[in-house]
Amino acid sequence: MDKKYNLIIIGAGPIGIACALEAQRRGWSYTIIEKGTLVNSLYHYPKGMQFFSSSDNLELDNIPFICKEPKPFRIEALQYYRTVVQSRDLNIKLFERVNHVDKKANGEFYVTTSKDAYLSSNLIIATGFFDYSNKLNIPGEDKNHVSHYFDDPHFYANQRVAIVGANNSAVDAALQCYRAGAKVEMVIRGDDIGERVKYWVRPEIINRIADGSITAHFGSNVKEIQSDHLVISNKNESKKLAVDYVLLMIGYQPDYSLLEQAGVTFEEDDMRTPKYDPKTLETELKGLFLAGVVLGGLKTNAWFIDNSRDHGKKICDAIQKRA
Ligand SMILES: Cc1cc2nc3c(=O)[nH]c(=O)nc-3n(C[C@H](O)[C@H](O)[C@H](O)COP(=O)(O)OP(=O)(O)OC[C@H]3O[C@@H](n4cnc5c(N)ncnc54)[C@H](O)[C@@H]3O)c2cc1C
Repeated sequence: MDKKYNLIIIGAGPIGIACALEAQRRGWSYTIIEKGTLVNSLYHYPKGMQFFSSSDNLELDNIPFICKEPKPFRIEALQYYRTVVQSRDLNIKLFERVNHVDKKANGEFYVTTSKDAYLSSNLIIATGFFDYSNKLNIPGEDKNHVSHYFDDPHFYANQRVAIVGANNSAVDAALQCYRAGAKVEMVIRGDDIGERVKYWVRPEIINRIADGSITAHFGSNVKEIQSDHLVISNKNESKKLAVDYVLLMIGYQPDYSLLEQAGVTFEEDDMRTPKYDPKTLETELKGLFLAGVVLGGLKTNAWFIDNSRDHGKKICDAIQKRA
């Protein structure tokens, strides 16, 4: 039966692909099921985005990742992971969302997707965190000129843009929009630009704020968003900022609905960290494993490509030992 596998991997991000390479090496029947395009999260990163990791730290299975500068751009990463998948002829079902996972009495997983249903002895959830944005939960957040994702700075040329947040995504968007000729105002909850901002970018944003090219409202929270302005508050004072667009660059979180539905349990911490065995990455449900950035729960900076690349090997070793 071609719909029955030894291993199903949910998500064709870099780590889902790393898991598939391991399964293929062992000659297992496996498939990846991906709801979007190949490396869908990376595809939706800002167009001009440059990784903070050097390309050798993003390589899978020692397949060389050659690029122009030491740190690759998004477009080069898309090309690299595409080449890995195509040159190894990995089994992938694209544009097929996993909607439901059931563990049957015989221990097998019954996986229902937007197109079909499959059986698998083992399951890896490698669904990342980029599809669900954090919310401010304020009036106007769902208006058309408000987005939680930044794509291309050209769109904001000659426009007034408010950017909420002070970490890498917010800072990258602010600098790129400024360079494209937007009038940029940042709204920042704390008193400084985030400590985790890339060390070679941080001085630049600080200088642009100091010389007045970009305005930063520190110690401020957004209270509401209207079609042509937003209201921010600083201590007891509130202020209106006239804007054309609002970018809420306040982070992302994993799809907890799939994890919960599949039977994953969680630590009693603030980070909604999934429970798993650190040696095998198996959850409390036998045969159900987690890989990649999803392991961190709300702590989305705990795992990245570099330190998750070995998850596929860890998991496949554990499955093999059991067989
Ligand atoms: C702007 C930015 C810059 C970054 N720079 C770096 C860097 O320099 N170095 C680094 O190591 N990391 C970096 N990261 C983090 C890195 O991109 C992630 O750690 C990496 O993508 C994690 O890989 P993953 O396979 O675990 O998850 P993802 O790449 O997020 O892949 C998860 C996949 O699962 C799919 N999926 C989700 N739900 C379902 C479903 N129900 N059914 C089917 N498919 C589903 C998604 O579409 C997605 O393709 C950066 C992240 C961002 C946002």
